[in-house]
Amino acid sequence: MTTRAAVLVESGRPAPYAESRPLEVAELRLDPPGPGELLVRVGAAGLCHSDLSVINGSRRRPLPMALGHEAAGEVVEAGEGSGFAPGDRVVLAFVPACGECERCVSGRPALCGPGAAANGAGTLLGGGRRFAHADGTRPHHHLGVSAFSEYTVVSAKSAVRVDADLPMEIAALFGCAVLTGAGAALYSANIVPGDTVAVFGLGGVGLAALLAARAAGAARIVAVDVVDHKRDLALRLGASGAVAGGPDAVEAVRELTGGGAEKVIDTTGVAAVLAQAYAATRAGGTTVTVGLPDPSAPLTLPALSLVAEERTLRGSYLGSSVPRRDVPRFVGMYRSGVLPVDALLSHRLTLSEVNAGFDRLAAGDAVRQVITF
Ligand SMILES: [Zn+2]
Ligand SMILES: [Zn+2]
Repeated sequence: MTTRAAVLVESGRPAPYAESRPLEVAELRLDPPGPGELLVRVGAAGLCHSDLSVINGSRRRPLPMALGHEAAGEVVEAGEGSGFAPGDRVVLAFVPACGECERCVSGRPALCGPGAAANGAGTLLGGGRRFAHADGTRPHHHLGVSAFSEYTVVSAKSAVRVDADLPMEIAALFGCAVLTGAGAALYSANIVPGDTVAVFGLGGVGLAALLAARAAGAARIVAVDVVDHKRDLALRLGASGAVAGGPDAVEAVRELTGGGAEKVIDTTGVAAVLAQAYAATRAGGTTVTVGLPDPSAPLTLPALSLVAEERTLRGSYLGSSVPRRDVPRFVGMYRSGVLPVDALLSHRLTLSEVNAGFDRLAAGDAVRQVITF
């Protein structure tokens, strides 16, 4: 069959992307799913900052690549042994979990060894690529998902079944923003009732973390961002205070939290801001980061403070979540009203607007933009 898909042809092209067009929408051939794979009709796909990191070249991936890693869709054809059936509504997670490796059996599927290897190589978990241009060139898969496409083929290990009546554009958010943000708050930071919390960076992931902190019973939540309308949104979503990002942010957070927050979550992907998040954490507290800085960026911290102040600094990939357990869990929280993630959805786009969408994301003018098909 064929599908229209947005393929990243070159990274590092100059902004505005609406003019330099690093993503080309092309008609591709799509091979049928192999054993353990699914052909999925994509219903909605979100634009995430880690897509932007591939587009601007700070995160190196093999090119060309059919981009997009946050999506929901419907199974059209299920390969042998996949455990799915046509008509199943699925959320796609951006780390396929083999279920067999040491990390998977330790309950840490976000760190799946074969999953990470396939994602690094730009293939599906079972190896190989399913998209092809007319000349036979095969674009790579993006984190096993490649969702900026009408149809995609994924490993069944990338898919989680959800309720058939969950709207696609809401379901898509659970694949990255909600798993990462809510997972960081509930699992990595282990926010408990009464905690004081600060969140640095109020994109889709940061706001999902804020919503989860609120659901977990945090007593005070301070939201930090350089963009004022994102701070306003955070206040509407339950933050008790908002602070402008910049050199004075640490002092302001410390003031609003009586000497620093107990749990601080950094989502910015900027090493200097992570150092600020650490400084805004009180003694005995936990600093969690989900951001992906440039690989060459060092982190400088006062080393003594880790021991003398019994601090914890924790990295969190995919929110340290277990997608098969947590997508249904977080969907349940959404449906019960305690995790209103629909508030993250700021724009709906068509596939051909994808480059302009990344301009809007880079400018800080969007929270979560979703391409609908
Ligand atoms: Zn993402
Ligand atoms: Zn594994």
